[in-house]
Amino acid sequence: MRRGWFLFLIWFLTLPFLAAGPVGSPSLIVVVDAGHGGEDPGAVVAGVKEKDVVLDIVLRLFQLAQGGPVEVVLTRITDRYVDLKERVRFAEEVGAVLYLSVHANYSSNSRVRGIEVWVDDSRRPDDPSWALARAVLEDLVEATGAPNRGVRSQKLYMRHTKLPAALAEVGYLSNPGERRRLLDPAYRERIAQGLLQGIYDFLGL
Ligand SMILES: [Zn+2]
Repeated sequence: MRRGWFLFLIWFLTLPFLAAGPVGSPSLIVVVDAGHGGEDPGAVVAGVKEKDVVLDIVLRLFQLAQGGPVEVVLTRITDRYVDLKERVRFAEEVGAVLYLSVHANYSSNSRVRGIEVWVDDSRRPDDPSWALARAVLEDLVEATGAPNRGVRSQKLYMRHTKLPAALAEVGYLSNPGERRRLLDPAYRERIAQGLLQGIYDFLGL
């Protein structure tokens, strides 16, 4: 009886540390979204599908974040389509502190290349989404050496959440050189590192 109580006490006292795991409990959840999926391939150029490129990038980001200060949660980990409003609703449901969607770009002008990060145009100038977009853009450009095409704004589905939210266009599939780079796993790893660093910088980590 006494021994049982003692063991219970040990269990109770160590519980928070066991729950915390070996590197501490990630207190911050971020949701990272691979654009498109399933019946929606996104941009398709020379057989290369945007949905596949961005899924690979977010899976790399997820791996890179393991053991780090934030818990990365993905909206999809397979080739399936998720409703756009569902994606941001999911981010709110899991208690995320930010939402970052990852896309690859297309232009009818095949010379256009580089990185852009987008913010929904309903966001006010003091909305933290702008700082998130700037941090992600800066770190992506640093990680890849790709041209910086700036933070931009248009009507996006991220208006359906109040979370800080940005959409990274990590390169143009329509530019042959950039498409070749996006097909290189080492380059996609650098993109994933840049995205994650942008998240860390935005959160002050
Ligand atoms: Zn897209």
